[in-house]
Amino acid sequence: MTLLTFRFAPSPNGDLHLGHAYSTLLNQKLANASDGRLLLRIEDIDTTRCTPQFEAGVLADLKWLGLGWEEPVRRQSEHFAEYKAVLDRLIREELVYPAFMSRGEIRAFITDCEKRGRDWPRDPDGVPLYPPTDKALPMRERKRRIDDNQPFAWRLDVGAALAHVGKGLAWAEFTDETLSATRPVEARPRDWGDVIVARRDIPTSYHLAVVMDDALQGVSHIVRGQDLFSATGVQRLLQELLGLPQPAYFHHRLILGPDGRKLSKSLGDSGLAALRGAGASPDDIRRIVGL
Ligand code: GLU
Repeated sequence: MTLLTFRFAPSPNGDLHLGHAYSTLLNQKLANASDGRLLLRIEDIDTTRCTPQFEAGVLADLKWLGLGWEEPVRRQSEHFAEYKAVLDRLIREELVYPAFMSRGEIRAFITDCEKRGRDWPRDPDGVPLYPPTDKALPMRERKRRIDDNQPFAWRLDVGAALAHVGKGLAWAEFTDETLSATRPVEARPRDWGDVIVARRDIPTSYHLAVVMDDALQGVSHIVRGQDLFSATGVQRLLQELLGLPQPAYFHHRLILGPDGRKLSKSLGDSGLAALRGAGASPDDIRRIVGL
């Protein structure tokens, strides 16, 4: 039997909460049950929001919970050159384009459209899709604006990417935490429009770094929260474009706050450090998250 490889991939931009605890403990349980590997990856490409202090807090919380992982830990901020090489390939293949519109310009474009009675499409998170204006800019104009130092992000031309791949995409989703059976899920990357794959100063984005690293680290089983379920469609498209293997997925239930809402890193009371400070033990955390 081939070795199963799991990973937990937190972003050190705040304190870990009960939702992270559930995710990490579930990955640990599944790795142990299958004699598999468990990797820890620090997703810190956002160098303004991710700090060494938060990272130290994340590692301390995970150790306290009893998580073990292989060293060295992959820290995404140390691999920008690798992401850049792949981004350059996407640029050469004209599968990405520089997108110059500011948030305000996007808002104005959409308000204008909707005033004329046309509903502008939203992505699964409710964010309006990026307008098609910049995709139509001639090469010369793109170059002029870049040389002019105008701010921009590299966006995936999802239509061109799908045409390049030339087939419908799906992924294998486990039906429950026993990981005994999967069902196929249709990938719908178009629902997200032309997503950002890199910034001008950071040569990657969450989607690009996550698919590259999962492949590079040989992750076979991606177990993460339900909130990333539909984003998987974009990641499947990138895997296919880049010729990467496809892992199997399990998107687990989310731990909700007392108000029934998803936990966020700014909610102090469900933070692991706060719970530990109030006297909770790792077993208490397991009980609270139902593991
Ligand atoms: N870094 C992401 C987060 O903290 C998780 C990415 C993933 O599991 O694919 O939300």
